[in-house]
Amino acid sequence: MSRIEARRDEDTAVTGNLVDRLLTGLPADAVLTDPDVTVSYANDMASFCPAGTPAVVVLPRTVEQVQHVMRVATELRVPVVPQGARTGLSGAANASDGCIVLSLTKMDRILEISPVDRIAVVEPGVVNATLSRAVNELGLYYPPDPSSWEMCTIGGNIGTASGGLCCVKYGVTAEYVLGLDVVLADGRLMSTGRRTAKGVAGYDLTRLFVGSEGSLGIVVRATLALRPQPPEQLVLAAEFSSGAAACDAVCRIMEGGHVPSLLELMDRTTVKAINELAHMGLPETTEALLLAAFDTTDPAADLTAVGALCEAAGATQVVPAEDAAESELLLQARRLSLTALEAVKGTTMIDDVCVPRSRLGELLEGTERIAEKHRLTIGVVAHAGDGNTHPTVCFDAADPDEAGRARESFDEIMALGLELGGTITGEHGVGVLKKEWLAREIGPVGVEMQRAVKGVFDPLGILNPGKLF
Ligand SMILES: Cc1cc2nc3c(=O)[nH]c(=O)nc-3n(C[C@H](O)[C@H](O)[C@H](O)COP(=O)(O)OP(=O)(O)OC[C@H]3O[C@@H](n4cnc5c(N)ncnc54)[C@H](O)[C@@H]3O)c2cc1C
Repeated sequence: MSRIEARRDEDTAVTGNLVDRLLTGLPADAVLTDPDVTVSYANDMASFCPAGTPAVVVLPRTVEQVQHVMRVATELRVPVVPQGARTGLSGAANASDGCIVLSLTKMDRILEISPVDRIAVVEPGVVNATLSRAVNELGLYYPPDPSSWEMCTIGGNIGTASGGLCCVKYGVTAEYVLGLDVVLADGRLMSTGRRTAKGVAGYDLTRLFVGSEGSLGIVVRATLALRPQPPEQLVLAAEFSSGAAACDAVCRIMEGGHVPSLLELMDRTTVKAINELAHMGLPETTEALLLAAFDTTDPAADLTAVGALCEAAGATQVVPAEDAAESELLLQARRLSLTALEAVKGTTMIDDVCVPRSRLGELLEGTERIAEKHRLTIGVVAHAGDGNTHPTVCFDAADPDEAGRARESFDEIMALGLELGGTITGEHGVGVLKKEWLAREIGPVGVEMQRAVKGVFDPLGILNPGKLF
């Protein structure tokens, strides 16, 4: 028997033992072993991120089943990769070789919605849009709204500390997670946080888990803060002959004390890509299209004031939407932008650099220079009100030279973001894609402390290994 064959036999025996142990606490239909099926759980939606081959995929339905999985993983020292809907854009949900993929998508019940306490208690697999609609029916609002909201899960949103379109007014996921139930690496169940309006008992472990990318424990239940549902928002579209003028408008709006419920920017490349994908009839002559929205009691008055600021910044056209339906159409276009840019050349690398708003114009100019230098198409879509940009490098993955230039430009944009006082990731997380960049941003002492925290929760290093650092 060759060494390779012997190794394969050994691997099969190890996997067989693992599967047998898992089946002692899970129903057979919750344990997937067919390689044709398990391979489909290997990746999230990020390009350029290596992924391993899972040994097994498990789909638990109860907290006890998750605890069982973690006890088996600890006993057999098998890595565990938690997954939601795998819409992540940093490789944070990618499998590692021989791992248990722990998909939380079947734990998808909304357990409670309390209009008095203004909270929802949910399992991690609840899809963001499902929760949003359910609370809307009771006159409540769950603000964090990633563009992927129809697919992504609350567990994934917590794992990546997701943002979205309305964060400029309402903040990001971290601001809405009050408490968590977490299954630890050894299978113990820990509750963090609160369901009260206030609470400061001990270290804020809830916040530590938000954005931890599945590296500290498995979120099995979340208590989320809700708000009263605001009035429907009205959107204004402003066209600019340069990205710099659009960024100037953003600065004027924020400096003027306005509080838009959304302030988004799309450059000409993005607008064209959306029209090509969905025939939305957006204006293609514009270099930058700014969408501003208000959900106040008099949104028309707010839009008039903001429209005037856009004109003062050089807008060539300012068009307020006539009604909520037209507003929704503009938002749909914006939500399509990353998918549309992917269709340009088949593959994208999506940067997530967030800079102080006052430096947004410099980031856009620098990105244009980088695109020219590398002879690439880079579409820019941005949560402009947050300074959070997604310069999206479009390339043909089958062309190694172009793919190499895409990776270089992706990195140069992060370097530029750091130079401008920003961060390498505003909302998509570090995952595999930005590992070296985390160290550049937080420095060696920062990395050492983060590793020490990880060691407390996961002394055997079995939780989502190879991510973050
Ligand atoms: C078209 C498109 C648009 C997008 N727009 C936005 C946007 O506007 N804003 C934004 O922030 N992101 C956006 N994203 C990125 C992505 O949708 C978010 O990061 C989302 O939060 C991921 O959720 P998911 O359920 O797909 O999680 P996954 O990708 O499956 O997992 C994400 C991370 O969370 C961990 N995780 C998942 N569930 C658990 C759990 N129960 N316990 C512990 N860890 C867990 C995983 O290990 C991984 O590290 C977009 C993606 C796409 C494809």
